[in-house]
Amino acid sequence: MSEAKRQGWEATRQEVLAAVHAMDREGLTEGTAGNVSGRTPDGCVVLTPAAMSYPNMRAEDLVVTDLEGKVLDGARLPTSEQDLHLACLRKYPEIGAVVHTHAVHASMFAVAGHAIPCVLEEFEYYVGGDVAVAPYHRTGTKALGESAAAHVRDRAAVLLANHGLVVVGASPSEALQLTRLVERAAMIISGATRLGTPPTLPDAIRSEFKASYLERRTAAAAR
Ligand SMILES: [Zn+2]
Repeated sequence: MSEAKRQGWEATRQEVLAAVHAMDREGLTEGTAGNVSGRTPDGCVVLTPAAMSYPNMRAEDLVVTDLEGKVLDGARLPTSEQDLHLACLRKYPEIGAVVHTHAVHASMFAVAGHAIPCVLEEFEYYVGGDVAVAPYHRTGTKALGESAAAHVRDRAAVLLANHGLVVVGASPSEALQLTRLVERAAMIISGATRLGTPPTLPDAIRSEFKASYLERRTAAAAR
């Protein structure tokens, strides 16, 4: 393996690991649930391993695969939810990372079968619109991966029915930051709806912010 390739994999491993530790520390998931991936500079994928608790996870525990899931480096098996990650990374070259969590408030919407409505300004700007619920498929299946990937075509997040949240971003740190934003929005909106029906944002603002999201996402593809 060339030195440049090795360094690229190591850098992505460190980015994924930092996101994993933050995800765990911040309670965005529980136990060994939730997983993170990042695209390496040469187009491979770093994935969190299956069934391993996060606090003690080290860079060498992460697994490098190709976009089809063939293991290229690492002694462990990749997460059983790898198809969620690989389907998104295969479909959208501009996406550099996927974070899947069972964040409590977002998962409340997923379990209730309700999309998270885009009634917060920052939400449209950063996430690109309402976060829909992808229909139920068993965890770990290709069908779930394909369904989730189809939903993040023009936005950063999708809920998985009876399950949790998937967020895509340019990097592991961005995907994690967007996960925090979606979780916080879910918390605010679930509280706001108890107080009344939140008014929608004006259409013109939504279109403007949506365009801005898509522009930034396309710019990431050009880098
Ligand atoms: Zn899950």
